[in-house]
Amino acid sequence: MTIFAANWKMHHGPATGRDLVRAVLARVRPREDRTLLFFPPAPTLPAVAAEVAGRRDAAAGTQNVYWEAKGAFTGEVSVGIAAEAGATWVLIGHSERRHKFGEADEETGKKVRAVLGAGLSPMLCVGEKLEERKAGETEAVVLRQLAAGLQGLDAAAIARVVIAYEPVWAIGTGVNATPQDAAAVHRCIREWLRARTPAGTRSRILYGGSVSPSNAAALLAEEELDGVLVGGASLEVESWAAICETPRPAR
Ligand code: PEP
Repeated sequence: MTIFAANWKMHHGPATGRDLVRAVLARVRPREDRTLLFFPPAPTLPAVAAEVAGRRDAAAGTQNVYWEAKGAFTGEVSVGIAAEAGATWVLIGHSERRHKFGEADEETGKKVRAVLGAGLSPMLCVGEKLEERKAGETEAVVLRQLAAGLQGLDAAAIARVVIAYEPVWAIGTGVNATPQDAAAVHRCIREWLRARTPAGTRSRILYGGSVSPSNAAALLAEEELDGVLVGGASLEVESWAAICETPRPAR
């Protein structure tokens, strides 16, 4: 199963968001071997959820949640509220949350636990900054973020978490990791997860960072990639539909 996940960041209100999902789903026919996820801004979620409701291959999610169930947390959204608004997935620890809003490793763990506790699917984002890559710290950074994000979970719970490997230097820059570089980090993540999940589990690991219609096929030719998480190229019908229809080599 290949996952095509669209992170709209702070783009598309309910009207343009609904039109975009409608147009993409009209273009991309349902297939057993792929799932389309849309992560719109929170106020756009109900409109997107209504559009995906009729498609078994599509779902909606939110870009962030707070771990408390309710209370005096102005500006935050609980998992319960997100679910009521139509989310079945939640992005956690996106690099913009970590590096623009100061989200700490420990907070990502609280969010993952809250999302799993509510029966929703978490997608935990991890990835190194350019200076960390240059210093040879990629694996250490990614494994530290994984350990914090999955802290306190048993093996069955860890198996439910989808990981998105997104090198920070590749997000929104037009410079994607090469398929080989992405696959190498995926293998390292997979090995770490394999030791912590039930025997036979294949954890799902997506790549994100400047994925476009012109590089999606080469990236998805790597068996290590279970899908892609896409920002800029998911904001328009043509580019997003083209990526969602990327052929994968038969295995
Ligand atoms: C993202 O926002 O997760 C992302 C990968 O963005 P972009 O595709 O624009 O690099």
